[in-house]
Amino acid sequence: MTAEILDYDEALAAFDPVLGLEVHVELNTRSKMFCGCSTEFGAEPNTQTCPVCLGLPGSLPVVNAKAVESAIRIGLALGCEIAPWCRFARKNYFYPDMTKDFQTSQYDEPIAYNGSVTVEVDGEPYEIAIERAHMEEDAGKLLHVGGATGRIHGAEYSLLDYNRAGVPLIEIVTKPIRGTGAKAPEVARAYVSFLRDMLRSLGVSDVRMEQGSLRCDANLSLMPKGTVELGTRTETKNVNSLRSVADALRYEIRRQAAVLSAGGRVIQETRHWHEDGGYTSPGRNKEQAEDYRYFPEPDLVPIAPSREWVEELRSTLPEMPAVRAKRLQSEWGFTDREFGDVVAGSAIELIEATVAAGATPASARKWWLTELARRANEADVELSELAITPAQVAEVQRLVEAGTVNDQLARQVIDGVLAGEGEPDEVVRARGLAVVSDTGALEAAVDKAIAADPDAAQKVRDGKVQAAGALIGAVMRDMRGQADAAAVRALLLQRLS
Ligand SMILES: [Zn+2]
Repeated sequence: MTAEILDYDEALAAFDPVLGLEVHVELNTRSKMFCGCSTEFGAEPNTQTCPVCLGLPGSLPVVNAKAVESAIRIGLALGCEIAPWCRFARKNYFYPDMTKDFQTSQYDEPIAYNGSVTVEVDGEPYEIAIERAHMEEDAGKLLHVGGATGRIHGAEYSLLDYNRAGVPLIEIVTKPIRGTGAKAPEVARAYVSFLRDMLRSLGVSDVRMEQGSLRCDANLSLMPKGTVELGTRTETKNVNSLRSVADALRYEIRRQAAVLSAGGRVIQETRHWHEDGGYTSPGRNKEQAEDYRYFPEPDLVPIAPSREWVEELRSTLPEMPAVRAKRLQSEWGFTDREFGDVVAGSAIELIEATVAAGATPASARKWWLTELARRANEADVELSELAITPAQVAEVQRLVEAGTVNDQLARQVIDGVLAGEGEPDEVVRARGLAVVSDTGALEAAVDKAIAADPDAAQKVRDGKVQAAGALIGAVMRDMRGQADAAAVRALLLQRLS
């Protein structure tokens, strides 16, 4: 089933990849696009339907104003022009999961068009031109039962759930993206990641790729080096993670390069990405736009957002994630590498909140990216899912700076907080973790260590200061870590001078 594929570097030596990305976003409106049914995820099958979203005769759709508002805000955030007047269209097709047998979508009159965004890969900017962002409705869901794979092939029967039919979608389509060379898969990944962050900051979708509220169809074609004519493209459907976007494209580059190098031709078709095997397989031959017999939807009035409303919505746009990231990096004084680690560790929000709670950026970064990252990793959870808040991390740091605990003890304080033992100062009290500042106790421990290791003590007296390490270690063990190592060292050297 896996096709011939060419080595990635060989493929790139002979061909230039051209990308086209279509991203579907489910909006988080409370009701559907054209009826009042709930959009809540995970309800009992077919409990969120009505004559409109089931396409029963005589039912009439009404446009969801909130969905139009979200569409305009998304268009503005993508740098698009907003159409002063646009319509819905019927896209005719046999959809078993859409009883009307047409999808209410937009065709030649999208609500937003001609935008542009910039994404960064390895410090290089790539401009992605946006062709359009249009409104449409989602289809229902098919559940294939009885087969091994959950796909229709081999299934005994299929079940239909129309709860999702009619949920508002925005489809964002790029213009062909050229000039990315070997970075094409990473540029695509960066773009989808950018969209996810942007849509989340707009608050218009919960953008969960694993639940299907953000879905990417990745188009790819190859041009032989030195030519300018676009090749035949394939469309890999519903790739449902960021990593899969890059992996599926890397595979298609290698597969198409093998076909073309062998003198064959690429077939225009949709393809399915197989996450487990890491390959794509053919789906259906791709229709041309004219096959869908689009025509303007006669049951819906056109949409004509006033310029005042559009400008009002523009003023509600939040700071865009890339702009915000640049601002925070400069405020925190992190190098590109340090900030890159923060981004890779998904720790921007956590560090921002920890700094807001009073910690320095460097200390916030230290705790989240080392100690806490390690614990999240061990527990196989996201950093943000750990049972410690940014305010508590800032408090741990405050205890370190006040000399109440040292770094070693601070880790035990974090243990206590994560175990649900309360606030950091409560953990310090309950576990008796504070650094011992009682000089008498410290002196006794130092004298004991000197008496127990006279050889080391003599070496220090003879000027071999590095021999003090063993004695400091003995004192720290004796004090169960609850001493300030610098103070122990000073006292030892004083005693042995
Ligand atoms: Zn409905």
